[in-house]
Amino acid sequence: MNDFRLTRGTKLVIATHNDGKLAEFRELFAPFGLDLTSAGELGLPEPAEEGTTFAENARTKAHVAAEASGLMALSDDSGLCIDALNGDPGVYTADWAGVPRDFMAAMQRVEDLLRKKDAKTPAQRRGSFNATLCLALPDGRDQLYVGKAEGTLVWPPRGDKGFGFDPVFQPEGFDTTFGEMTSEEKHSWSPGHVGLSHRARAFAALVEACCDV
Ligand code: IMP
Repeated sequence: MNDFRLTRGTKLVIATHNDGKLAEFRELFAPFGLDLTSAGELGLPEPAEEGTTFAENARTKAHVAAEASGLMALSDDSGLCIDALNGDPGVYTADWAGVPRDFMAAMQRVEDLLRKKDAKTPAQRRGSFNATLCLALPDGRDQLYVGKAEGTLVWPPRGDKGFGFDPVFQPEGFDTTFGEMTSEEKHSWSPGHVGLSHRARAFAALVEACCDV
């Protein structure tokens, strides 16, 4: 039997304290009828993210939540990797927004660095959003699912939807930023489809492995 199966009524902790991510997972999981809660809602500790890869950090967050709650837990570690900045900010994307988080300042920091590199054309301003999801059981077993969305860093920021760096990321093939898209457009996911955003693409892989569609 597959212990990672997610069926109607399965209790699952979304291992995040990030409201933007939580809202997206609630929407993505809506068709499946799971019994969802979150690390924030359960008052679980927020572990330090000391890994150097998305996978390491995703594992840490999912295992901490699964052990503390005694339930299956799903984490997301994600970030923006910019080609001209050698992949930065990458796993440190959240850190670039400081504490308390200031994403306008973080987007400005990215823009300043791109200008220093004289990156003006879309080809010079390429980047990707990356997400690694970790589904963990309280006994320590886990599974990982990854998703990536390629695109361009635009300036000035456009749109007030979404969260984090959404207003400066224009996915390939679109002339709107994630910040200008509704969450349905940003996911562009439905059963059997790959989705558009990094999170939706990783989620599609999870659904394929764990859900009845
Ligand atoms: P972490 O996964 O908690 O380390 O945080 C990832 C950071 O990447 C978030 O705080 C956001 O700044 C950024 N990020 C990840 N996914 C998205 C997204 O879908 N839209 C905008 N920003 C994102």
